[in-house]
Amino acid sequence: MPHSYFDADNNGHKSFELPGAKPHYNPDRPGQVEHIYLDLNLDIPNQSYNGTCTISLKPIRSGINSLSLDAVNLNIESVQVDGTNQAFDYDRSKLDIRLEPATEVGKVIKIAIAYSVEKPQRGLYFIAPDKHYPNKPTQVWTQGEDEDSRFWFPCFDYPGQLATSEIKVKVPKPFIAISNGRLIDTQADGNYKTYHWLQEQVHPTYLMTLAVGDFAEIQDEWQGKPVTYYVEKGREEDARRSMGKTPRMIEFFSDKYGYLYAFPKYAQVCVDDFIFGGMENTSTTLLTDRCLLDERAALDNRNTESLVAHELAHQWFGDLVVIKHWSHAWIKEGMASYSEVMWTQQEYGNEEAAYYRLLEARNYLAEDSSRYRRPIVTHVYREAIELYDRHLYEKGSCVYHMIRTELGDELFWNAIHTFVQDNAHKTVETVDLLRAIEKTTGRNLLFLFDQYVYRGGYPDFQVAYSWDADSKLAKVTVTQTQAKAGSSTDLFDLKIPIAFGYAQEGGESQFKTFAVRLYEREQSFYFPLEEKPQFVSFDAGNNYLKTVALEYALPELQAQLQYDPDPISRIYAAAALAKKGGLEAIKALARALKSDRFWGVRVEASKNLADIKLDQAFDSLVVGLEDDNALVRRSVVEALAQIKTKDSYKAIKSLLKNGDASYYVEASAARALGAIASVNLEDESKEEKAIKLLNSVLEERAGWNEVVRSGAIAGLSQLKTSAAALDLVLQYTKSGVPQALRLAAIRALGTISSGQTPVNLERILERLEQLANETFFLTQVSVVVALGQMETIKAIGILSALASQTPDGRVRRMAEEAVQQVQAKSGSQQATKQLREELDLLKAANQELKSRLETLEAKSSTKG
Ligand SMILES: [Zn+2]
Repeated sequence: MPHSYFDADNNGHKSFELPGAKPHYNPDRPGQVEHIYLDLNLDIPNQSYNGTCTISLKPIRSGINSLSLDAVNLNIESVQVDGTNQAFDYDRSKLDIRLEPATEVGKVIKIAIAYSVEKPQRGLYFIAPDKHYPNKPTQVWTQGEDEDSRFWFPCFDYPGQLATSEIKVKVPKPFIAISNGRLIDTQADGNYKTYHWLQEQVHPTYLMTLAVGDFAEIQDEWQGKPVTYYVEKGREEDARRSMGKTPRMIEFFSDKYGYLYAFPKYAQVCVDDFIFGGMENTSTTLLTDRCLLDERAALDNRNTESLVAHELAHQWFGDLVVIKHWSHAWIKEGMASYSEVMWTQQEYGNEEAAYYRLLEARNYLAEDSSRYRRPIVTHVYREAIELYDRHLYEKGSCVYHMIRTELGDELFWNAIHTFVQDNAHKTVETVDLLRAIEKTTGRNLLFLFDQYVYRGGYPDFQVAYSWDADSKLAKVTVTQTQAKAGSSTDLFDLKIPIAFGYAQEGGESQFKTFAVRLYEREQSFYFPLEEKPQFVSFDAGNNYLKTVALEYALPELQAQLQYDPDPISRIYAAAALAKKGGLEAIKALARALKSDRFWGVRVEASKNLADIKLDQAFDSLVVGLEDDNALVRRSVVEALAQIKTKDSYKAIKSLLKNGDASYYVEASAARALGAIASVNLEDESKEEKAIKLLNSVLEERAGWNEVVRSGAIAGLSQLKTSAAALDLVLQYTKSGVPQALRLAAIRALGTISSGQTPVNLERILERLEQLANETFFLTQVSVVVALGQMETIKAIGILSALASQTPDGRVRRMAEEAVQQVQAKSGSQQATKQLREELDLLKAANQELKSRLETLEAKSSTKG
């Protein structure tokens, strides 16, 4: 495998394009596909099916005498055109049909392909119980995006072709079959029942779907249209709890997008072993059954609600307005991700929405710094599925928010209405969005797209502030630190508002706001003000995608953390305070953790407290374990895990023993317990006690999605030198262990490997090599994650084998990236390991000294 590609310098970022990447274009069109009709018989016990796929094609010109369809690993039995057998070639990937006679322009032909499939590997999935998992339900479901529909029926498989579709399928009773559009007929026939679904609005092949199972059907409605939730029987209540807001969301999105929900029904089917979180098939979304919440999970799980909103948003962005080519997928994924923000704002308010947006931005920023940098729009890749990354989703969402900021709310929604109305039931490219904006508002936002869509990156702003009391001038210096001095290539050119804040006793802060154009590496601005401001809000509203480092004096940061009404500004101030360190910073952060009105700021304050390496941070943090909000408690637990002292161990242990209302808090506590015990080496028995406690969690706290027990596994994986912990983790990688727990155990093998003896390392590698042979997508992902964390070049062999064998493009890419990680680590590892250990000892000694010094200073200052 060639590796040099990864080292190619891309402004210090790894290249998105892997070896073999090339430009991708839509194929030439022989004509317009008007209708696709699948007539299928499922043989569920034998995991096979047969049937006919009939494609109606309106030729674009006369004289076409051959057609080339996508069809992978199907058994093609015959091809007829308008009832006449036709010769064809099939290489198990492309079906080439000779047309005799040749086409006549505009005269529709019907191509009927009889075919069968046994044990399909992709496209259509048979789920069934086996000896390890006897309670697994029997189901059939499909997954088309991006280019997998060709694995379950022959088609022109690219999103530029839109057609109506129809699926007739015979299934054994008591199974029911759900598909796109409306049910036009059912017929019982002995032990079988035939379901006939018709999708009368055009859509692309990747959105055609079929789901079969013995489901419970829960009926809801929106404006007289059926809204249906299908789940495994017995989970009806979880279904309502998890999806029950759907009708209100349909109402909300219909209003926001300026287009009433377009399809005759909306179904959500929760299926077993799904390989995505959700898939927005037209009018029939499939969701992983893991999103179904029980009462306790609903306490602090918002992911399900966001997932439901995301997939529903696609019914407009993706299904009604279809992307013409994968390179423009951000149009739909960005909006679906932004719709999560919009729904959060609608349901939970502005602060929650702002924080949601910050978390999305951070996801993208992490990918940019750790994986690669790319333009959002690119057609150079190996497989289209590689594009489905944090650039596409989260950065796309941030771009939509910046468009909204540039236009203002009213014009933004008008432009969105125009875009949806003009392009309903059609395909779009990125330029169509720009055109809709210009048509509606007159604004040309190409400058924004050039900076954030058509090229990679974002600005890193460093902001310094000072006040000149004599001349009453505020001086603000902004540096774009992402750009090298003297170079203009990475600079951004944006108009950014700077607001000077005046806190009012018992009221809202007042602001004096100025917009400045930032386009050079370093710019200084002087603002005449009547009074000295208490704080400075850079990029007021925090609407632009960026990073910020605030270089303000302590009082300004304290005031901002306390008084800035924008939670994101408070969060930036908290981060800057933590960077300063010291007891005053701890005090300010402790106050925020205790009393900020918004839980997101309390979460961030707890993280920042742990970053200040002073013993005094502990006392401020530990009170956060009493916070009413489970998300804050979880964050406090994670923060305490970084303060590896007897006190933090005690606090975590008692929380884990006594339990918490939230699964996630308990899981974090279990993980933290292992992390703290792992460094308390002066007390050997501590490790033993920690393993005992974690083992009791494993034995006693089975439950929803195995969240708590997976936390215990993560805790064990922190005990990297313990053979006993490894033995336990290995046990949970066995077949028959509940899947979510087993996947956690597989991943944990990577974490725990770094401190193990050579003999144990061999055991881990051997186990992962066995597991790499399992074909299930999520198992393969876990194996790759584990191997990628290992520090031995022996992991590379297994990863390379997996990369070359897996049928999944996502796994292949992850495995290749993991090879790079392992190479980087295994080389420098030995040398740095010893240094790191020595450094840790020094740090601990230094922290104690610093803490004592801070206390002394505090004492002397109160006296003085
Ligand atoms: Zn999506």
